[in-house]
Amino acid sequence: MQTLTDPFARAISYLRVSVTDRCDFRCSYCMSEHMTFLPKAELLTLEELDRLCSRFIALGMTKLRVTGGEPLVRKGILTFFEAMSRHLASGALRELTLTTNGSQLSKFAAPLAALGVRRVNVSLDTLDADKFARITRWGRLPQVLEGIAAARAAGLRVKINAVALKGFNEDELTSLTDWCAREGHDLTFIEVMPMGDDMGEALRLDQYWPLKDLRARLAQRFTLTELDQRTGGPARYVRLNETGQTIGFITPLTHNFCESCNRVRLTCTGQLYMCLGQEDMADLRAPLRSSPDDAALEAAIHAAIARKPKGHDFDYSRRVSDGKLSGQITRHMSHTGG
Ligand code: SF4
Repeated sequence: MQTLTDPFARAISYLRVSVTDRCDFRCSYCMSEHMTFLPKAELLTLEELDRLCSRFIALGMTKLRVTGGEPLVRKGILTFFEAMSRHLASGALRELTLTTNGSQLSKFAAPLAALGVRRVNVSLDTLDADKFARITRWGRLPQVLEGIAAARAAGLRVKINAVALKGFNEDELTSLTDWCAREGHDLTFIEVMPMGDDMGEALRLDQYWPLKDLRARLAQRFTLTELDQRTGGPARYVRLNETGQTIGFITPLTHNFCESCNRVRLTCTGQLYMCLGQEDMADLRAPLRSSPDDAALEAAIHAAIARKPKGHDFDYSRRVSDGKLSGQITRHMSHTGG
């Protein structure tokens, strides 16, 4: 089998693919309430996404994580999962997974499980219905909890990704942890760093909650054992000895995983980002659309991987001026964590 190897001898085997920029929530650290989404012609069609991902898989990608926006609001999305499931069946793809806000899982969990999805990451910051409605603006907690229950009923393993916000879910550290222990969900906390006015009313500078503080708080109640569990991503893990739970921590500024980085990120418009923390990207849509033959596309993929940088270099000011908020960056980071 072919492999994609970058100039630093890292085998690139994990593709995160965004299938839409749309979402049915408007989390205040991710989107403004009145978003202008991309025109349809800019988006890759589901057939194009299939062709592009299949080419990556032929080149050695063994793990595919589907993201958004909210991936399950993309019309016809099961067609795409069905297309990818043929690579699971052939053995070329080892894992097909997704990151979701959970709103559509009641409907999609069973079909996704039938297509070979085994794990799902659900972004959930609070178990308080009012707070949930406030931070997601358009989301409703019961719908998400039903979705998570449907995922478990369908046999999917669930990982909860919670953004840690001081003064917002600080008081829920224990209840979230206990709930995950009871329900058998994995849990990862994500640090988010607000950077000024663009962050919207629900995420202010005084809401920055460094994960080292959260961790210290957890240690008051639990005995933490550091785990050497590496996924090639930014998450660090501990075990809570009392419950046996594994808890992940992701901070967007960590540089500890670059040397083992195995991943790249594809946007819904066909741009390939070779590093989560750098702006350099390669347009794969043009070679994809220029010919039904994959030769130009494959050459563009190889050329892009040859530009994968050694390490990342977050420049928050640049992201904010682009209108991309750190919450979104952080969600992206979390999508790489497992
Ligand atoms: S954080 Fe996730 S659920 Fe919230 S608006 Fe952004 S994409 Fe949607």
